[in-house]
Amino acid sequence: MRIHKTAVHPPGCGCNNCHRDDGSVPLDQADAPTVARMMSGAIRNLTGRDLRVVVTAKLGRDSSDATTDRVEVSDGARTWDVTDHLGAALSFDPPF
Ligand SMILES: [Zn+2]
Repeated sequence: MRIHKTAVHPPGCGCNNCHRDDGSVPLDQADAPTVARMMSGAIRNLTGRDLRVVVTAKLGRDSSDATTDRVEVSDGARTWDVTDHLGAALSFDPPF
């Protein structure tokens, strides 16, 4: 079973908590599933920075409802595609 991190720390962080499997992880070492869990609120954002979430939605030709096509999280230096990791924990419906 995968051990989940509890918080994401600033890039390059080397604190004791970041060295524990059940502790935190520096942002530059975080994978997409971890960033997705941070978006859902299961993991705390202790990176010291704002993260930008870009949602690309698609309005189908025969539909009146837009559906989420892609969700990306960026800290300005790196972008994580979390589309396949959001699961049921987070419904990210476009606000229209
Ligand atoms: Zn740390």
